Amino acid sequence: MRNIQHILAEQKRFFQSGHTKDLAFRLRNLARLKSAIVENEAAILKALKKDLSKSAYEGYLSEVGVVLNEIRLFSRKLKSWARPKRVKTPFVLWVASSRIYFEPYGIALIIAPWNYPFQLSIAPLIGSIAAGNCSVVKPSEYAPHTAAIISEIIAAHFDNSYITVIEGDAQTGEALLAERFDYIFYTGSEAVGKIVMTAAAKHLTPVTLELGGKSPCIVDQDANIDQAAKRIAFGKFMNAGQTCIAPDLLFVHNSIKQQFQTQFEKHVHQFYGKNPQQSPDYARIINKRHYDRLVALLKDRRIIFGGQCDPTDLYIAPTLIDNPALEDPVMQAEIFGPILPLLAFDDLSTVISFLNSRPKPLALYVFSNQPQRCQKVIEKVSFGAGCINDTIIHFVNAHLPFGGVGNSGMGQYHGKASFETFSHQKGILK
Ligand code: NAD
Repeated sequence: MRNIQHILAEQKRFFQSGHTKDLAFRLRNLARLKSAIVENEAAILKALKKDLSKSAYEGYLSEVGVVLNEIRLFSRKLKSWARPKRVKTPFVLWVASSRIYFEPYGIALIIAPWNYPFQLSIAPLIGSIAAGNCSVVKPSEYAPHTAAIISEIIAAHFDNSYITVIEGDAQTGEALLAERFDYIFYTGSEAVGKIVMTAAAKHLTPVTLELGGKSPCIVDQDANIDQAAKRIAFGKFMNAGQTCIAPDLLFVHNSIKQQFQTQFEKHVHQFYGKNPQQSPDYARIINKRHYDRLVALLKDRRIIFGGQCDPTDLYIAPTLIDNPALEDPVMQAEIFGPILPLLAFDDLSTVISFLNSRPKPLALYVFSNQPQRCQKVIEKVSFGAGCINDTIIHFVNAHLPFGGVGNSGMGQYHGKASFETFSHQKGILK
C-alpha cells in the first residue's frame, strides 16, 4: 500500500498553495481529464469487458459516455456555477448586500464500487475537480482491470499532489478512512456506508453516501404493457442486473399480469436472443461469491422464465420469479443481479402501504397512463429519484440531482449538484 500519510501531506501542501481555487486551473484539468479518457477509450472498454463482460456498446453508454457528457456540461457551466451568487437581504438589514461564495473543502476521498467501476470513480472526481479540491480515488478491488486503467490514466496526466488513485481492498479503504479528509464521497453498500460514516464522524468530515436498496417498479392496469415490459427488461438486465437503480421488485396489476409476462419474455429474447449466455451483450456476475448468493435466491422458487445458471462462466439467465412470499429472502435484501420477483396487485394503495413499511429505496418507477395515479405514488412514497413510464434513465440527465434518502443514502450529485456537493457554501453579508 502506498504511503497514505505522505500523499495526504503533499496534497495538503498543494491545496494550500491556492492553485486549485483558480477557475482556469479547474477548467484546464477537466479538459485534461476529458482528453485522457478519449485517448484511452479503447483500453477502458477492454478493462470493463474483462471485469464484467460488459459489451463495448454498454460500456460506452453507461460509463465512458456518461462521464464525457458530464465534463462537457461542466466546461460550459462551471464559470457561472462558481461565481458568487447574490441573494436577497431582508429589509431590516437595509443597505447591506448578501452573497454566497463557493469554496472547495480541501482534500476529497472518493470510494467507488465495482458495478460501474469507471463511471462511479470518475463522475464524483469531476465534481471534486470542478469545485477546486484535491482528490484521492479508491476504486473497487473487484473490478481490478478497470481500477488499473483508472490508476494509469490519472498517474499519467495528474500530479500525485493534486489527484491520486490508491488501489486496494477493504483494508486499504479502512486505512484511508483512518486519516482526516475534508470530504468523503462514498458509493457502495449500506453496510460499508455505516462504516464510512462512523469513521467520518471521528474527524467530523462531511459525507455523501450513495447506497443501494430494493428499487420498486409498478406497472398499473392502464399502462402501455409492451412499452413497460421493454423498458423494465432494459433497466433490469443491463449489466446483468448489477445496477444500483435497477428494478429490484416488480408490482404488476393482476388484470394485465399474463400479458405483461409474455411481453417481458419477448423483449428479453429480443435484447439477448433465446440463449442470453451466447449473447455478446449480456454481462456476467462479478465473482463467485455474488454468483453463489444469487443462485441461492433461485432455489425452490416458482420461476416464470429464466433460472439457468453456469458457474464456470458466472452466468445467470435473466429470470422472472412468480409471487414470492413477502418474507422470502428475494424480498428482503437488494438482489443486485438478473433476478426479478413479480408480485401481482389489485389495489395501488396496498402497494404504497407496503413500500412505506420498507426502507426508502434509491429509485422507483411507475408505469401508468393516468397522471394522477403516477402523482399519487410519487407523493406518497419517499425514494431517491426515479422515472414515470421508464426505468434507470433519470441517471443520465445531469440536470436532475441523483442520490438516495434514508437507507439508500444521503447527499446528491451529477451536474450542478456535484459542484455544490464538493463545495462549501459560505454566506457573506456586506
Ligand atoms: P461495497 O460497499 O462492498 O464496496 C464499495 C467500496 O468500498 C469498494 O471500493 C470497497 O473496497 C470499499 N470498502 C469495502 N469495505 C470497506 C471498509 N470496511 N472500509 C472502507 N472501504 C471499504 O459495495 P460494492 O459491493 O462494491 O457495491 C454494491 C453496492 O453499491 C450495492 O448495494 C449497490 O446498490 C451500491 N451502489 C450504489 C450506487 C449509487 O449510486 N447509489 C451505485 C453503485 C452501487
